[in-house]
Amino acid sequence: MTSTLPSRFPTGAMATPEAAPLPASHRIRERLREAGVSFLANDNISAYLCEGELDQLEIEVAGKVRDLLRSLVIDIENDHNTEETAERVARMYLHEVFKGRYHDQPKIASFPNVKKLDEIYTVGPISVRSACSHHLVPILGNCWIGIKPGDRVIGLSKFSRVADWVFSRPHIQEEAVMILADEIERLCEPQGLAILVKAQHYCMKWRGVKEPQTSMVNSVVRGDFRLDPSLKQEFFELVKQQEAVLST
Ligand SMILES: [Zn+2]
Repeated sequence: MTSTLPSRFPTGAMATPEAAPLPASHRIRERLREAGVSFLANDNISAYLCEGELDQLEIEVAGKVRDLLRSLVIDIENDHNTEETAERVARMYLHEVFKGRYHDQPKIASFPNVKKLDEIYTVGPISVRSACSHHLVPILGNCWIGIKPGDRVIGLSKFSRVADWVFSRPHIQEEAVMILADEIERLCEPQGLAILVKAQHYCMKWRGVKEPQTSMVNSVVRGDFRLDPSLKQEFFELVKQQEAVLST
């Protein structure tokens, strides 16, 4: 990945061979603290990673997962099924299910709204996959995005890309929707934005109360969708129609 380190970070202070004993996560945490940047579970920290540190993190995380398996009294030395689980889990966290923390936002170009389009449209369902911050078990669902275009527009497929990047972090659903809304506003500055997410939480299905059918639905409405109730209503109607298409 391309690191976009802020200029205030002195690259000369990067790890030297003498500093090697410090784990990569330690150096990165120190750097984030020095910059006064938060590194909560659903924050993206890619701008604060140096070249090669993601590989170092992968090795470090695999070691910790190996320790976890040992503490769970699993015989990883003799169990052919879990022999390489630690490496798989480390790769999965850093490059797949939590890639939205460690990798840059996918490149998304926006274009001037030359035709001055101002009719609303919705995109969905977009599959979203996350994990709850509390138990690190899956949250799987669908998302619908409604846009009333502003001065700039982005391609339809780009909504899927940005949603995937935002949701690929440990989250709680309420915050995931807000963060996605912030990113979309940054990308295309719409006059109005509405997002609806319906998701199933495996911390309710697989453990705890073990409710297999329960889902959580939440939404955020901004700009004209917030100011104009009829526009908000139109968004929910369009989502209903898109859901109806699914069941035909
Ligand atoms: Zn949970």
